[in-house]
Amino acid sequence: MDESELPRQWYNIQADMINKPLPLLNPATKEPLTAEDLAHIFAAECAKQELDQEHAWIDIPEEVLERYKYYRSTPLVRAYALEKALGTPAHIYFKNESVNPLGSHKINSALPQCYYCKQEGTTNVTTETGAGQWGAALSYAAKAFGLECAVYQVKISMQQKPYRSSIMRTFGATVEGSPSMSTRAGKDIITRDPLHPGSLGTAISEAVELATTTPNCKYTLGSVMSHVSLHQTVIGLEAEKQMEKAGEYPDTIIACFGGGSNFGGLAFPFMRHTIKEGKKIDFIAAEPSSCPKLTHGKFEYDFGDEAGYTPLLPMYTLGHEFKPANIHAGGLRYHGAGTIVSQLLKDGYMRAVDIPQTESFAAGLLFAQTESIIPAPESCHAIAATIREAKKCIETGEEKVILFNLSGHGLIDMTAYDSYLNGDLTDPEFKG
Ligand SMILES: *Cc1c(COP(=O)(O)O)cnc(C)c1O
Repeated sequence: MDESELPRQWYNIQADMINKPLPLLNPATKEPLTAEDLAHIFAAECAKQELDQEHAWIDIPEEVLERYKYYRSTPLVRAYALEKALGTPAHIYFKNESVNPLGSHKINSALPQCYYCKQEGTTNVTTETGAGQWGAALSYAAKAFGLECAVYQVKISMQQKPYRSSIMRTFGATVEGSPSMSTRAGKDIITRDPLHPGSLGTAISEAVELATTTPNCKYTLGSVMSHVSLHQTVIGLEAEKQMEKAGEYPDTIIACFGGGSNFGGLAFPFMRHTIKEGKKIDFIAAEPSSCPKLTHGKFEYDFGDEAGYTPLLPMYTLGHEFKPANIHAGGLRYHGAGTIVSQLLKDGYMRAVDIPQTESFAAGLLFAQTESIIPAPESCHAIAATIREAKKCIETGEEKVILFNLSGHGLIDMTAYDSYLNGDLTDPEFKG
């Protein structure tokens, strides 16, 4: 850990984007939402950050910096053993966001969101979680800042990863499987489809309902929203300094893609050089083949949740009623994408690839056996995309510098690895 690598400000790419993201719309009036509207569900400061297209740099509060220092800076690692196993001339680096007690990048945004809630006099926070990484991070951050926390966890993920609910409860949060019978939205979904496995869409509906019907309770999100990607830019800002120390500069930057926060967190600080100085970097978002909003979705206004409680977001989407297959990468089972990333993809600043589930686990296994870290099923998608690029370098002989984000470890996802090792994993078809 090197404190001097820790940035004092987050980078807000919206300020530098040539085509700004389109506004979020109120579904009833189709009018653009104001920060005031958003502050009904989110912390006011997060609502302000969400719509800020003016300030490129936003100060990280001192109390948040103090907490970041518990685990940041995170290591930038050259994957020599993986390079050797592949026989590639490429230089592969990864930013290791798994090395905090929660095990994923999600804590980078959980801390500021809870801090702002506390500052603004909120007593309770609620959220949805898929695999449980976000719920775990929020539960910890809520405890750190003295808030009560209620989490709706996607039912199928709760069954696949029982230990994540244990972690959340250990940090003092209450956890419900979604769809649940505790909200109107959950009851409606169960009535329509009693065996609904849940999705991030159903869980968001329930958490938003709880936040809007409970006094002094705010909703928080671990992905998709622009303020979440903003907080995650500590990843890329550190990586920039660390790459400089390594004497290299990335030709290719890769991250897995659920809603875009770990991708944006790593990519946006580098992309400012693309926007402002024309620097050429190949930015690649790696999504699952069975939930391919970036490669197979449409750019249009859609709801962020299943029930249609959220604002309308201008984004690449598979439709808010899309029911993702039960792949193990729970954090990537989301129908939409962040509005910033959606605009950047539309404008050609980045591209996306879709990865079949078995390819992702094969990549994760090779990474584990070479680099000794068991990656989260989500992160396996970034590794698979990295291996594809590194193999291309074998053919062309190019010594490309590839940087990918290891968004989390997979130590609580061992049932998924067991399924893969037992030969039980399938590649669910995308039915668009
Ligand atoms: C949540 C999660 C993701 C996906 O979310 P993004 O917002 O796209 O980053 C990826 N990796 C891990 C480990 C996660 O917990």
